[in-house]
Amino acid sequence: MNLGVEQAKAWIDQMNELFQQQKQYLTELDQAIGDGDHGWNMARGFQEAVDKISSNRYEDLGTLLKDVAMTLIAKVGGASGPLYGTAFLKMSQVLAGKQEGNEQEWIAALGEALAGLKARGKAQVGEKTMIDVWEPVVMFLQEKGQLLAREAAQLAQQKMEETKTLEAKKGRAAYLGKRSIGHIDPGSASSCLLFIAFAKVVES
Ligand code: ADP
Ligand code: MG
Ligand code: MG
Repeated sequence: MNLGVEQAKAWIDQMNELFQQQKQYLTELDQAIGDGDHGWNMARGFQEAVDKISSNRYEDLGTLLKDVAMTLIAKVGGASGPLYGTAFLKMSQVLAGKQEGNEQEWIAALGEALAGLKARGKAQVGEKTMIDVWEPVVMFLQEKGQLLAREAAQLAQQKMEETKTLEAKKGRAAYLGKRSIGHIDPGSASSCLLFIAFAKVVES
């Protein structure tokens, strides 16, 4: 199975829909352990990204994903804009010049996105950030060598839930120390939606 420009556009559209729907929920998660803007950040950033890409025709995945990345970096303040921007920029580099990518190429793109997130945020697994969703999901896909998107989304959901048990070591929630325990990390919730949107596109 290959995923091309149309599917990538559909992924961004689907993510935007989920972020608009879940804006309040993501904001509530961030109100508990952050500054309460995560829902707004994601909703605004992805609406801008959709506006940008829907007015263009794209010959390759790289250009499309780079436009998404640049929009997120430019329009979203806070930690999540540069982080998600970096993730899409890394994917755009792997998929540059390709009208479509096969399963291995998409898994490689997600792997580079994870590497970029870790380099940018300097976070490791267990520090209660979006890395707690991204790393196990990417490792699962790399291990399977297939784009098992539904299983990946289920794993993302489980890992998001598990961030409740963690104490935040990075980002604003780290200021709370042990008081961050018992709450889901907002960025792992938005990353979970990213993988749910991906599964919807892969399965359609
Ligand atoms: P801000 O915290 O600047 O208001 P957001 O609320 O939009 O930005 O995003 C917060 C999310 O960003 C956190 O829930 C966490 O998942 C993620 N995050 C914050 N810092 C880091 C980091 N250093 N590495 C990875 N993810 C991070
Ligand atoms: Mg915030
Ligand atoms: Mg903020």
